[in-house]
Amino acid sequence: MSLQMISDVLALRDISSHCPLCGRKFGRVARTDEHIFPRWLQKHHKLETRRLTLPNFIGKTYKSVRIDICEKCNHHRFGRLETEIARRVRSGDAFAAVQDLDQELLAVWLGKILWLLCRKGHAYPDHRRRNEPEPDSIVPQDLMPGITYLGMMERAFAMHKGMYACYLTDPPLPDFFYGPPYSLYVVEIDTRDTRFEAFDFADNLITLGAALRTGNLGLICAFDGGIHREFRLHRFQHLIGEKLHPVQFGELAARIFYDHTVLHEDALRVQYYWNRPLHAVVAQTQTPRSFDPFLAEHHDLERLAGMIGRGTYADPKKILHEGGRIFTCLEDHEGNFLRYAVTEEEIEAARRDPHQTLMGPLDSRWRTDSCSR
Ligand SMILES: [Zn+2]
Repeated sequence: MSLQMISDVLALRDISSHCPLCGRKFGRVARTDEHIFPRWLQKHHKLETRRLTLPNFIGKTYKSVRIDICEKCNHHRFGRLETEIARRVRSGDAFAAVQDLDQELLAVWLGKILWLLCRKGHAYPDHRRRNEPEPDSIVPQDLMPGITYLGMMERAFAMHKGMYACYLTDPPLPDFFYGPPYSLYVVEIDTRDTRFEAFDFADNLITLGAALRTGNLGLICAFDGGIHREFRLHRFQHLIGEKLHPVQFGELAARIFYDHTVLHEDALRVQYYWNRPLHAVVAQTQTPRSFDPFLAEHHDLERLAGMIGRGTYADPKKILHEGGRIFTCLEDHEGNFLRYAVTEEEIEAARRDPHQTLMGPLDSRWRTDSCSR
């Protein structure tokens, strides 16, 4: 029964005939029109007629980015999830309000937006490539096997099943060895700088990550078998307890997405099993637990600078220093958290600090010069 579920997810059924979340065939269940960015979230931030800046959906309004899902998902399983998240996000202190929420629900919720964007993007031909012999989709076919990892997680949730991740060499002792199939970071946002919008969304389909900022809540999630938390949490832990300015949140997300570009290829491969006692899919990452798959030899400073630039609206050429140094706005020259200068006093103090440098058109864009990699 549930091995069948795994192969059904991998088969990527046509979204015009099957619910992209639970896989049920439309007709047996009614189809409903779903806003990929939830309608309550659009209302909350007045996004309806605003246009997306995501590479795959440039120029589309938020309210037009929709997909059919089945009535059961919309009104029950995922509908209840939306209600839970909406109540907390709209409470005025979203960061505090999600603290008692199971992290899996946050990961599934953010993952649902990313998964539905991918399925929608994959279903439409890319107009920029319409004259090629085999025109590809907006989300190209060769990315879909990796993206399906996220589809597996959404399907398991839709069907009241679980999903866990493990490593190649793990013995079958679930309680100890199985962990969540994602790396989720929940951070508090510094909302004092009113020049920045209260909402932002970024994704990276190659590394299967998404970042969403709403009010004082920031979520960054990589659907990676939990390997980022396992091997890279120590790099970022001191930042996660701080209030991050929107630009800093953008840099943190970019750095987490970037990390996944240096992975050993076996860490991108996965084997799925059905675990009956756990009632869950187990996704086995094809590297051993003892092996750190984030490889120093794959580092590419230009790529890192490019990704940070995109995430922070800064010029990548200015982020990358000659001599292999990368600017950061997250840490001071000693590696401690650097509070982003917002008030006049803070900007003045930053101006006097010889370790900080002005970048970008906004006065408050101060970054400390540090070699962080
Ligand atoms: Zn469904």
